[in-house]
Amino acid sequence: MSLRELYQEMIVDHGKHPRNVGKPETATHCQVGHNPLCGDKLCLYVTERNGTVENVHFEGSGCAISVASASLMTEAVKGKTVDAVRDMFAGFHQLVTEGKEPATDMGKLLIFAGVMEYPARVKCATLAWHTLNAALNNDLRDVCTE
Ligand code: ZN
Repeated sequence: MSLRELYQEMIVDHGKHPRNVGKPETATHCQVGHNPLCGDKLCLYVTERNGTVENVHFEGSGCAISVASASLMTEAVKGKTVDAVRDMFAGFHQLVTEGKEPATDMGKLLIFAGVMEYPARVKCATLAWHTLNAALNNDLRDVCTE
């Protein structure tokens, strides 16, 4: 299966059946993000303890790419240290804007290299990551991709 086919299959799967949806009591950070260009909106709930991201949940609505990206992100960052999550954020950004495979181990997230082919979708794919980064930085402002 090509990267492109894998990309489409995973976007459809996670877009239709997102993982880690909800608002857990344990959340230590809440952050709102939106992408007015497309109408994507999400609230991210991060449970962090001793510098480790134990869990990330989200609630939101938007296009399949934004929902799938948030869903795959929650799986990818679970159990990682905050520093490792920041590296993944930088790697993800590099992947979708330059199409270059980053030095950081991205796992399944590598399929997002396909976003390169749809420049208008880059903000959809990165919304959840910008929002997570702001949450970890304790930035109280809502995230807007504009
Ligand atoms: Zn979108």
